[in-house]
Amino acid sequence: MKLELLKKQLSPKRYQHSLRVAELASCYAPRIGVDPQKAYLAGLLHDCAHELAPEVLLQKCLEFGIVIGNIERKNPFLLHGPVGSQLAKRDYGIEDPAVLAAIAEHTTGKPGMGKLSRIVCLADYVEPGRTFSGVEKIRALAEENLDLALLRALENTIAYLLAEERLIHPLTILTRNWLLEEVRP
Ligand code: FE
Ligand code: FE
Repeated sequence: MKLELLKKQLSPKRYQHSLRVAELASCYAPRIGVDPQKAYLAGLLHDCAHELAPEVLLQKCLEFGIVIGNIERKNPFLLHGPVGSQLAKRDYGIEDPAVLAAIAEHTTGKPGMGKLSRIVCLADYVEPGRTFSGVEKIRALAEENLDLALLRALENTIAYLLAEERLIHPLTILTRNWLLEEVRP
């Protein structure tokens, strides 16, 4: 893996965050039969497009043929997942579809998302550097049940966006609904 390239493309803070997500995702991995190395790789690269300016993200979407929805146009930051996935493929030589999907899906989630995508999304939410209210509860829950923790993380995100009067991406709602059915006994 081109660690030097990643280091160059991310701020020190974002790079450290990526290391923590990689570490945590690889800890979760064996519990659900995911290869820890794959989880580490996906965690490491999940934010590789994070520092791109909004106009650059939009331009990369045109370049890569990524569809830009209404919400993405107003909030291009949401595109750092899908754009990051394309960059991981082109600039980092990643070919594993599950790793590429995990990077693409980590910001909004996606109904039916695979195990690797789920743990990267969750690790991104609860890595040790996160300090927002409610994180400890979800972090603890993750020790018991990864999917349930991800469900709570998505619900927290939706509640936060509602409280802040911000747009909610439909994929986040669809993912929450899907996961709710998944975790029901
Ligand atoms: Fe991200
Ligand atoms: Fe992140």
